[in-house]
Amino acid sequence: MVSAEALGSAQLGEPGQPLVLTNGIALVGSELEHREFGMLRIVAGQIESFGPRGGATRTHSDDLILDLEGAFVVPGLIDSHVHFDLAGHPAAYEHYDASVLLRSLTCFHNGLAALRNGITSVRDLGSADHTVLDYASLVRRDLLIGPRVIAAGRPITVSDGHFSQYARVANGPSDVRDAVREQIAAGARVIKLMATGGISTSGNPESIQLTPEELAAAVTEAHQAGLQVAAHAHTHAGVVAALSAGVDSIEHAAFGDDATFEVMASHHATLVPTVSALNNVLPGRGIPAETVRKSLEAREPYLQSVRKAVSAGVHIAAGTDAGTALNPIGGLVDELAMYCDAGMTALQALATATTGASGLIGGRAGIIEPGRPADLMVVAGDPSADVTALRRPLHVVRRGRVIDLAWADRTMSELSRALVG
Ligand SMILES: [Zn+2]
Repeated sequence: MVSAEALGSAQLGEPGQPLVLTNGIALVGSELEHREFGMLRIVAGQIESFGPRGGATRTHSDDLILDLEGAFVVPGLIDSHVHFDLAGHPAAYEHYDASVLLRSLTCFHNGLAALRNGITSVRDLGSADHTVLDYASLVRRDLLIGPRVIAAGRPITVSDGHFSQYARVANGPSDVRDAVREQIAAGARVIKLMATGGISTSGNPESIQLTPEELAAAVTEAHQAGLQVAAHAHTHAGVVAALSAGVDSIEHAAFGDDATFEVMASHHATLVPTVSALNNVLPGRGIPAETVRKSLEAREPYLQSVRKAVSAGVHIAAGTDAGTALNPIGGLVDELAMYCDAGMTALQALATATTGASGLIGGRAGIIEPGRPADLMVVAGDPSADVTALRRPLHVVRRGRVIDLAWADRTMSELSRALVG
């Protein structure tokens, strides 16, 4: 096993060594307020304290010190919708027919790609088996280097429903309840339901799939275990059915209208749009023809849908659906830029990938405050003024340790060669 310990060169400094960032500007608290600091001390993977600029610096001889020279520190980004054992191939889901070994390496590769791009937490919303759950467990126990992964295990769908070729097919409330329990028993930290058809699979994205009774059974079971529920839904009827059952987040809503987002806003549910997932879906790139046709038809309504959600004041968390066709892990900033095009300020868009997504991953990471996890990203420009400043991280800190980004690049290119075979 490739442990963080064995890969000493993957991170700067020694395990357990306190880290001190000096002379920077942090975007702190749930409002991402600017705070200039002389020092930001990190101990045992947590933010310990801030010291003012020009103030006394209580560094210790064994601290690792990194001078930021006026750069900005933001919470490590959260991608609230990924598929970590997919590789973004044109026929993306065929990767589920690859061996567990190859998909495990894909997880490791995607973990590095995420960190490389400042993404320190992800929600994995569905795989063909429990590979991603095992990967998430290894990272959680600090046996493997990677971002925090809140994984759903297998998504739950009806016979012939969206993703049914690979999902846990369940019919009737009792079977759906069993399916939820199976994912929880396997280590899931979130439950994924398919409420309507999809764009990337065959069938009609507007069809209603899980019934109100089935949705309610799943939500009751998940909530009893303290897990949130994410529902894939594209249309007004699908979104409203999922919200009525009490789901916590709606994924996509490509064909939502004004009424849809009024209902969403009143339920205080979170929308994860993943609108950038279709950016590279074009003819002539090896993507299945039906996926291309449905994606091209959906693109304009999808953009309009995000615009309506923003103007209705729906709570939005950023997600990319990374892993799907020509949509590799790491493209989160493109998604944020599209939210800005849809009417958000840069600060609002930044919040969708940090403070505003914190609740989806357990509420501790995603906010910079003493006592919280030291998962951070350092960038040269101010991303609350222009989100594209997030494209070029100078440093990425995960669990209080600075990732060696050159090491990450080298390792990813080695892994890519193995994965392409
Ligand atoms: Zn997805």
